[in-house]
Amino acid sequence: MIVLKTIDEVRKQVKAWKEEGLSVGLVPTMGYLHEGHQSLIKKSVEGNDRTVVSIFVNPMQFGPNEDLESYPRDLEADSKLCEETGADIIFNPEPSEMYADGFCSYVNMTGLPDALCGLTRPVHFKGVCTVVNKLFNIVTPDRAYFGQKDAQQLAIIMRMVKDLNMDIEIIGCPIIREADGLAKSSRNIYLTKEEREAAVVLSKAVKLGEQMIVSGERDAYVIVNSMKELISKEPLADIDYVEMVNMDTMKSIDKVEGNILCAMAVRFGKARLIDNFMKTI
Ligand code: AMP
Repeated sequence: MIVLKTIDEVRKQVKAWKEEGLSVGLVPTMGYLHEGHQSLIKKSVEGNDRTVVSIFVNPMQFGPNEDLESYPRDLEADSKLCEETGADIIFNPEPSEMYADGFCSYVNMTGLPDALCGLTRPVHFKGVCTVVNKLFNIVTPDRAYFGQKDAQQLAIIMRMVKDLNMDIEIIGCPIIREADGLAKSSRNIYLTKEEREAAVVLSKAVKLGEQMIVSGERDAYVIVNSMKELISKEPLADIDYVEMVNMDTMKSIDKVEGNILCAMAVRFGKARLIDNFMKTI
C-alpha cells in the first residue's frame, strides 16, 4: 500500500489500473480511521480489484467556529489500518493541492442540504459536494462507499450523482457501533469520561424510536418528542435537533410512511455527535 500526496500521482496509478481492466473503489474519509471506516474499506476491497482511501480534512466543509484545527489526525495509524484491510492507495493531499490559488468553482445543491445538519452547518454540504466531486474526478472510481451514519450526506451524494449523471455506483454501508451502542466516530475522542458515558443516550433514543414504530406508532411528532425527552434526561446532552424526515426530500413529516429518516445531532461538551435510523413503511 502506498500513500500519495498529489493528484497527478493518483491519476497515473488509476490510469495504469484501468488499462489493465481493473475496477476501482473509493472510500472518502477525513482520517483518524476506526472500524466504521474500516467496514467501508472492507466492502470496497471485496467489491473491486483496487481500493483508494482518501484522507483529507476538507477545510471547505467546516464553518468558521467549527473544529477544523482540532480535528484529530494520525496518518501512521490510518496507514496501518488501510494496509491491514487491503487498501491499495491512501490519497492524502494538502489543502493547497486540492484548492489551488484562485479556486472558485463549487457544487451547490438546493433543497436537501436545507434541513437537519445543514441548518446549523450552512456551508457544510457545499464543501462536501465540492470535495466529493473533485475526488470522483481525480480517482474516477467505479464505486464509492459512504456510511449511513451520515445519512443526509449519503442522500445528498446519491442525488448529486443522479442529477449530474456521474457514472459511479454509490454504496451505503450500515452504522458500526461500540459495544454499548454509541456510533463510532472520529469525534468521540473529544468526549471526557463522563460525556462518553452520557453519549450512550443517543443510541438509546434510536432504539426507542425504532421500537415505537415496530409497536405501531405512526405519529412522527409523538416519536420525536419521546426521543427528545429521553435525551433531555441526560444533563450533559445539549440537543441540536431530533427530526423525522422523508429520506428522498429531507422534508419534515407528520406521519411515519414511505422511506423515513429519523436523525439527531446532540452536543456533549466539545463534541457534536450524530446518529439516526432509517425505515421503510
Ligand atoms: P468521516 O471520516 O467522518 O468523514 O467519514 C468517512 C466515511 O465513513 C463517511 O461515509 C461516514 O459516513 C463513514 N462512517 C463514519 N463513521 C461510521 C460508522 N460508525 N459506521 C459506518 N460508517 C461510518
